Amino acid sequence: MSEQTMPNWLEQRAFLTPERIALVTEDETLTFSELQQRTKEMAARLSSIGIQRGEHIAVYAKSSVEMVQMIHALSYLGAVGVMLNTRLTIEELVFQVTDSSCSYIIGEDSYKGTIEEIEKQTEVQSLSFEELKDCQDSSIPMLEEVKMEAPYTILYTSGTTGSPKGVMLSYSNHWWSAVSSALNLGITEKDQWLAALPLFHVGGLSILMKSVIYGMPVHLHTSFDTEAVHDAIMNKGVTTVSVVSVMLDSLLDRLGSDHYPTNFRGMLLGGGPASEALLHKAKKKSVPVFQTYGMTETASQIVTLSPDYALDKIGSAGKPLFPAQLSIELDGKPTNAHEVGEIVVKGPMVTTGYYRRPETNEETIQQGWLRTGDLGYKDEDGFLYVVDRRKDLIISGGENIYPAEIEGVLSGLDQVKELGVVGKKDEKWGSVPVAFIVVRKGMTLTREDILAFSKERLASYKQPKEIYFVDHLPRNATNKLLRRELANWLKQRRNVQ
Ligand code: ATP
Ligand code: MG
Repeated sequence: MSEQTMPNWLEQRAFLTPERIALVTEDETLTFSELQQRTKEMAARLSSIGIQRGEHIAVYAKSSVEMVQMIHALSYLGAVGVMLNTRLTIEELVFQVTDSSCSYIIGEDSYKGTIEEIEKQTEVQSLSFEELKDCQDSSIPMLEEVKMEAPYTILYTSGTTGSPKGVMLSYSNHWWSAVSSALNLGITEKDQWLAALPLFHVGGLSILMKSVIYGMPVHLHTSFDTEAVHDAIMNKGVTTVSVVSVMLDSLLDRLGSDHYPTNFRGMLLGGGPASEALLHKAKKKSVPVFQTYGMTETASQIVTLSPDYALDKIGSAGKPLFPAQLSIELDGKPTNAHEVGEIVVKGPMVTTGYYRRPETNEETIQQGWLRTGDLGYKDEDGFLYVVDRRKDLIISGGENIYPAEIEGVLSGLDQVKELGVVGKKDEKWGSVPVAFIVVRKGMTLTREDILAFSKERLASYKQPKEIYFVDHLPRNATNKLLRRELANWLKQRRNVQ
């Protein structure tokens, strides 16, 4: 069978609907035709410095028009974009550009110092957007087609459970992610999606892919600012926003007793667990929330709950998108309803593998089924409930304890700003849960308060056996809690009172 191809996405979009709005930023609004023109100029310069098909190029930038151009420009050259998180340390950046075999790191002008430092420490050449503008245009023809199975991007996982792994996503993975979402949510002419999640994260990048594939405007925000997002929904026609829990919470607070305009379709909530309190809060304010489950490896959401079920199936991440399948497995066999096991998923949006990790690939992807490393269960109707990460499971006296459950309960205490639960070795029980708690400024909270609260809500074996008050929690560049680092804190007895 011949290889499947498609017209270059931006080329086709600019041909079909040139005058439609592609991007709205604080400073400018661009049509697809304008975006295409600027992108091709950039692609011509990239090609003049010798960037070729299949070459890996690291991109180090916050969300901006240039970053968007860069992502599309790579598709005109058939080069692979390695999207770097701008909050990584130099050491982490050096690891990722080397691990992914990049030849160049191209970054926004304000990061010139950082990318030059990377160049010093590696074989990778650095180039800022400004320097790229000085490069000659080349007359090398642009690729008019994309090969669907070719890799388009490598995004690193957040590194929550171990060191980050480079996930290869092909054009086909991105295509199916965008199409699957459209099959679920539908597309309307009024749709305008707001991207406040960074484009180097799959949650942000997938919005850009939807934009070019659907012909839909994206409102691009450099970072999440509650006031700016609120204003874009209230006054600028934004219909959909991708958020993580803290963003949703802060937007709901900002909304107060007001209502979003009737054209607002909803919040796509992902990235991690959502508390029931948050979902109730959204419902009370009539804000539709699409809860999702997904990961870098699935090119964003693969399971989604529509707002119709938000409260009937409270806490569920929903059902798989149309082309995807979901199974819960324990000891290699599918579990019964309500029985916890590993979440295993399959579908055309699932990565073909991690870059240069043959052993991990063999362990995690079998016949197209990806073992997610997450634990969950399905109810009798097939709705997914995500329980926790397999690596964080605490086994205490033969009972399974999920730290996320304890965290969810204790976060119901008003005085708790944030918390993390981790297992601690115990001679009698094997392991017991202990909690690290950051108290809200100006509030007081004692061990006794916490234990009294948890006794009413959690079985005794799930109650934290030790409680540490700390002023912050260890988080990674995606702001996710690092429970393995909490375990180190315990070992070192540092940072804990
Ligand atoms: P690493 O794989 O390096 O440990 P990571 O898994 O945090 O990092 P991401 O791909 O950014 O990297 O995150 C995906 C993970 O986020 C999922 O595997 C899951 O653990 C968590 N997650 C996503 N959606 C949900 C959800 N609805 N409920 C609970 N957890 C979720
Ligand atoms: Mg992961």
